[in-house]
Amino acid sequence: MPINRFKAVEEASKRVPLEVTAPGKQPSEYYGKNVFDRKKMSKYLSKETMKIVTDAIDEGKTLPREIAEHVAAGMKLWAVEMGVTHYTHWFQPLTDGTAEKHDSFIDYVDVPGGDVIEKFTGKLLAQQEPDASSFPSGGIRNTFEARGYTAWDPSSPAFIVGDTLCIPTVFISYTGEALDYKTPLLKSLSAVDKASVEVCKLFDPKVKKVFSYLGWEQEFFLVDQALYHARPDLKLTGRTLMGHESAKNQQLEDHYFGAVPQRVAAFMREVEYEAHQYGIPLKTRHNEVAPNQFEIAPIYGETNLANDQNLLVMSIMDKIATKHKFKLLLHEKPFGGINGSGKHNNWSLGTDTGIGLFTPGKTPNENLLFISFVVNAMMAVYKHNGLLKASIMTANNAHRLGANEAPPAIISVFLGSQISSVLDKIEMSSEDDDITVEELHKMKLGVAHIPEVLMDNTDRNRTSPFAFTGNRFEFRAVGSSANCAAALIVINSIMAKQLIDFKKEIDRKMKSGMKKDQAIYDTLRLYIKECKPIRFDGNGYSDEWKQEAEARGLNCETSVPLIYDQYTTKQSIEMFESVGVMNERELEARNEVKWETYTKKIQIEARVLGDISINHIIPVATRYQTALLDNVYKLGCVFDVEKAKQLNEHDIVLIEDIALHISGIKTNVDAMVEARKVANRIENVREKAIAYHDTVYPFFDTIRYHIDKLELIVDNQIWPLAKYRELLFIS
Ligand code: ADP
Ligand code: MG
Repeated sequence: MPINRFKAVEEASKRVPLEVTAPGKQPSEYYGKNVFDRKKMSKYLSKETMKIVTDAIDEGKTLPREIAEHVAAGMKLWAVEMGVTHYTHWFQPLTDGTAEKHDSFIDYVDVPGGDVIEKFTGKLLAQQEPDASSFPSGGIRNTFEARGYTAWDPSSPAFIVGDTLCIPTVFISYTGEALDYKTPLLKSLSAVDKASVEVCKLFDPKVKKVFSYLGWEQEFFLVDQALYHARPDLKLTGRTLMGHESAKNQQLEDHYFGAVPQRVAAFMREVEYEAHQYGIPLKTRHNEVAPNQFEIAPIYGETNLANDQNLLVMSIMDKIATKHKFKLLLHEKPFGGINGSGKHNNWSLGTDTGIGLFTPGKTPNENLLFISFVVNAMMAVYKHNGLLKASIMTANNAHRLGANEAPPAIISVFLGSQISSVLDKIEMSSEDDDITVEELHKMKLGVAHIPEVLMDNTDRNRTSPFAFTGNRFEFRAVGSSANCAAALIVINSIMAKQLIDFKKEIDRKMKSGMKKDQAIYDTLRLYIKECKPIRFDGNGYSDEWKQEAEARGLNCETSVPLIYDQYTTKQSIEMFESVGVMNERELEARNEVKWETYTKKIQIEARVLGDISINHIIPVATRYQTALLDNVYKLGCVFDVEKAKQLNEHDIVLIEDIALHISGIKTNVDAMVEARKVANRIENVREKAIAYHDTVYPFFDTIRYHIDKLELIVDNQIWPLAKYRELLFIS
């Protein structure tokens, strides 16, 4: 009912910022309070257990069963002291977000019906069988009629939410296939560790471990809760399927530079307090470009942990938003015509000896190491640019990519002029150059001078999807609602594979008598030439780039269902299998899940769009049209024909316009329903997703066009849906 909208606007306008008080004076007083971190482990575990656990975490060793028993006892002690009554295995199914199944600690002491105690054993800590038959598994479990189980990941600390102890776990089928994001992520981290160490040893034999680091920047929208409820499309699909642009949008860019609105500031403060209690080092918060759009980012950390923290933050934000009478929107494109939300993934590798492998070094040796890693990263992205794009493509994110606001739907690498010129120099040098090591490093490369120059890190290219930013690569195409692991599994796996190939090449050259530095230099020169097409420092939004990229042989596919094929190309399967991250069956099964998810999302949107069109928009448009007709008729009764014609001129045009748009909506909705029926009959999940993409989805824009036109014509007083100007601009 129209009244809803105005009531909602009124309600929203009366809101005041919530009072939020810090749980302590300084973050250091409450930081990590809800996490079973090393500090707490050392308090609740014996010295011996503590040592075995930390060794296992640091060196990736398996934990003996009896140790799980000790850890469970310590964990329970801590949890019960914190007032916890339940525990859950916390895992990351292939749907977005996380899943959990809560069980109480209570158990009978011995016989059923006897005394009750709080019990938590090593077995319960280590493994659980969630009744998870409805989590998408792409047929892996169905085929084998095996259920999935969750298994403890000791490398990410347990934490407490409310009355529940949450234990980060992997989720796998009984036949061993990964049904989640965490399993392949952990495998990819181990693969990139091993491969990087081998390469690092060429430079520094002391390196024993290489860590992958992730620093995510989370963008999001907030809308008032009341207004959110006045938009069925937003509630059911996470985005507005219609809505004319507000007269004022982001064109003044005043939101980006403006102060965070008071209500939002209160929300952000509380998110920060809460996150800090979970040991999540949130550091920055600010407005983003679009109205109602904001960003938070922590200090970067080890990838597995940082990713768990991102997932936790998303649910913390959701909960706190409700408390502040907001609704959190993590959808990649909740509003047409203004920027969508991404999640930049800042990725780097670093050694246990404290060297950042994407950080220019202080010595020629360190710089050759640095250049080796940068060039290999570029090679990896070059060879697998289609796969990398597949890792971030979803029905939601497709709205964002390729639009003039986010990275284009073509993956390229931006290096900046300093690194580019170093690589150019290497490329130009002749193969027959008889160069001394000293010359090689200092004169030919010029890399010894990089550190100073790079300090001035100003030439950033915001249009590049994969940009070098001084000490890391920033992958900007990741969607705001995504599990970062999807992208990081690919990044770390392709890097591992590339480094293995690189090391093989160096070994081969050294065996045939070449000196180490010469072998490295030589190989890098070839790589730089080979992967040149991936380097692009220009404007990624331009049309010329699309043509150019095509000519360079980069992947330019924009269809979401088709891009998933990249996961199962011969090259991808070989790559994933050779680094031990996923096998062909897993890749196929996961693609099935992706296609199914795509189909379902478009199907739901199509239904909602159809419903709102037919039972919200058309009735209201017709009502207004009737009022106009009534007016025309009555003027005709009062005035003579000529005069009435003159007076009615404007209304007649509107009446015709309304008729035109109503018919536009009706015809297209009918055709869309037909297309859906046809698509629904397709059995093959891939074909079905393609049908939804090619034949159902194209109606969305046309239907929206007509609705948005009607929004401009129909009496504001009876328009049923909260308008953009009302949804946006929190005061
Ligand atoms: P910007 O918006 O300019 O890209 P921010 O400061 O908002 O920069 O975010 C940068 C993110 O990158 C932060 O999360 C930061 O901790 C992270 N970061 C910085 N250095 C590294 C690194 N070496 N590896 C991974 N992430 C990093
Ligand atoms: Mg950034």
